[in-house]
Amino acid sequence: MPFPSLGLSDALSQHLAQLGYQTPTLIQQQAIPHVLDNKDIIGIAQTGSGKTAAFGLPLLQRAQQPKSSRGRTNVTPTLILAPTRELASQIAESLKSFAFGLPEPLKIKAVYGGVSINPQMLALRGGCDLLIATPGRLLDLINQNAISLSQTTQLVLDEADKMLALGFSEELEAIKALLPKKRQTLLFSATFSKDTEQLAQQWLCSPVWLEV
Ligand code: AMP
Repeated sequence: MPFPSLGLSDALSQHLAQLGYQTPTLIQQQAIPHVLDNKDIIGIAQTGSGKTAAFGLPLLQRAQQPKSSRGRTNVTPTLILAPTRELASQIAESLKSFAFGLPEPLKIKAVYGGVSINPQMLALRGGCDLLIATPGRLLDLINQNAISLSQTTQLVLDEADKMLALGFSEELEAIKALLPKKRQTLLFSATFSKDTEQLAQQWLCSPVWLEV
């Protein structure tokens, strides 16, 4: 099953082929049409399954549609939460390589703890199209008015089980309170424990269940 038949644009599919992505992986085949259809998703998938592209490609395609708020305020329509600095920067690099050369250039930024906050505050000036963040640093940046979640209508919780295991429950709760209620939420996790199930119940609305 080729990428265009999942609903991805010819421009994106052709670019993927150049990157060596000829055939979608199982999680990509399952997730991409639902993400494009604005559904909430629970994806039980391991690292290596191709989950980054499973949520990233359809979100990039959506971000191609011009937005009126673009470049004027400190908002981000799409937020991807990740447990670690390594994963956050890896997701950003992948998304930037997928988005390279698309008709509508996109601002893709990663913010995480363990490094100085000032360059991240500067980088977020004027907002962005897709923001990848670790929960603690995101809250710090919100408190500094560097970014607002008031317009964030697409959210990804990546490696949700790991975020809970690292003790981010309170930060996640604080972030949820700042997000619009009307949004699309995609939750990816390697395991589905009681805690992850509870998180899914609180964050998602009639989710599609995908397991690979
Ligand atoms: P992930 O599970 O998102 O960390 O991806 C694992 C690796 O598989 C990454 O190096 C991706 O670049 C690669 N990958 C993901 N999807 C595809 C695909 N459809 N075709 C070829 N490589 C892929």
